[in-house]
Formats: sequence, structure tokens, C-alpha cells
Amino acid sequence: MAPLGTKPRRKGFTGDNEAGSCGEPALTAAELENGETPLVVGLTGGIASGKTTVSGLLAARGAYIIDADGVGHQVLLPDGEAYPQVVATFGTEILEQDGTVSRPKLGAIVFSDPERLAALNAISHPAMAGRMSLEIRRVRAKPPAERPPLIVLDAAILFEAGWDALCAQVWTVEAPPEATVERLTAGGRFTRQAAQARIDAQLSNAERAQRAGRVILNTGSLAALEAEVRRVWESAVETTGEAG
Ligand code: ATP
Repeated sequence: MAPLGTKPRRKGFTGDNEAGSCGEPALTAAELENGETPLVVGLTGGIASGKTTVSGLLAARGAYIIDADGVGHQVLLPDGEAYPQVVATFGTEILEQDGTVSRPKLGAIVFSDPERLAALNAISHPAMAGRMSLEIRRVRAKPPAERPPLIVLDAAILFEAGWDALCAQVWTVEAPPEATVERLTAGGRFTRQAAQARIDAQLSNAERAQRAGRVILNTGSLAALEAEVRRVWESAVETTGEAG
């Protein structure tokens, strides 16, 4: 699954740094392990599990959010790192008249062909990792008083893309599958069958929970979710004295 077809969420960092085509290398294991702060937490979870709600709650507490969807859009722009290789691989027929990549045209190609999707991901995901790493380094280079207490890398496909390698910890938001189907079908957004197909195409909650350091349960009210976020925040930030 690629970040195609997803709406950019305008919050925190959405990829619009100066990465250009500089080919920023991804964060290394050494950089992760040398105790640099702020810590980077990967935030993931299934479709309609509540990720956006949780990242909003974390942002309200002062976390700096890196939005992988937004970064995915930026690397495909004409001056983005992935653009030349994507055009070379998929041809100029994926372009609009103004030279920008037509996301619907590219989506139509890759979402019906797993090999083409893998080819796109092989181009875009490393470019995205580079841009996200650049942003993490930029935030970490700020004077201590200006640094946020936590950097959150918000990515539905965190594990699938291997971006968990950029994170000191991973938190996954988990909602009961029935609640997820209800949310997806509410307002006629999806049929039950289409909603289920999307859920089935992803990693399961159990797989994510097994790989994540922490599960944020979203099984009740929004107030209950807020309380759950407060708990993870306190354990990750306040105990290390990072919170402002
Ligand atoms: P997507 O995968 O589609 O990007 P998401 O994982 O980011 O979704 P949200 O957008 O946070 O999920 O939540 C989906 C919808 O469910 C939103 O309308 C949100 O307000 C609602 N929602 C999330 N959690 C709860 C809850 N505990 N109680 C009621 N509504 C909720």
C-alpha cells in the first residue's frame, strides 16, 4: 500500500522541507541508539482505528507530528526526490498537462497490480524516509528550549514501509474491527464489503500489536481514548523529564 489517494493532513510537518533531490540518507541505527532527543515515536494503526484523533491529541500536548501522507505527496511533486524515477518507470502517461503526477492515473495502475505497486513503493518509500530523517535531524538541531518533547511519525504503513527503523518506539492504535467497519460505512463512505476488504488488505491488529512497543486501545469513548493517550504520554515523556 502506498500513500496514494490519501488526503494530505495539514498538521505538523507534511514534507515541505528543502530536501529537493539531495538524497538525504535515512536515520542510522547509531543515531537512533545514541540517545538523541526528542525521541521519535512511530504512530500506526489500522484504517479508521483513530490514528488521526490520537495524533491530534499528541499534538495538543506538544508533540511535533511528521505526517507521512503529506511527505508522500511532496516526494512526488516535480521537484521531489521520487519524481524522476517514477516518471521513468511509469511513463509520461501518468502526468497531467502541467507535468505533475496524476495521483488517480498512477493509483489506477498500481492498485490493480501488486508488482507495479511494489515498484512504486521501492522508489517512494526510501525517498520519504530520507525526507522524514532530514526533518528529524532539523528538529533535533534546534536549541533545547525550542525542541518539542516528542517527535511523532504518523504513518498508517509504518511497518510495511520499514519506517519503524527510524523510531525509538512504536505505538499502534487499535480499535475493534466492528467499530472500524461501522466508522467506515457511516455516511455511505464504503459498503460493508469494501470496508472489510480494506481491513483485510492490511496487517491485522494482532500483527501490529506484536511488533509495536505499546498498544493504544480505542475501544470506548473519545474521553477514554484521551485518557489512554495521557497515560502513554506520561510514560514516554514526563518520566524522562522531556515535557515542557
Ligand atoms: P484513516 O485510516 O481513515 O485515516 P484514522 O485511523 O486516522 O482513519 P480517525 O480519523 O482518527 O482514524 O477516526 C476515524 C473516525 O472515527 C473519525 O470520525 C473519528 O472522530 C471517529 N472516532 C475515532 N475514535 C473514536 C471514539 N473512540 N469514539 C467515537 N468516534 C471515534
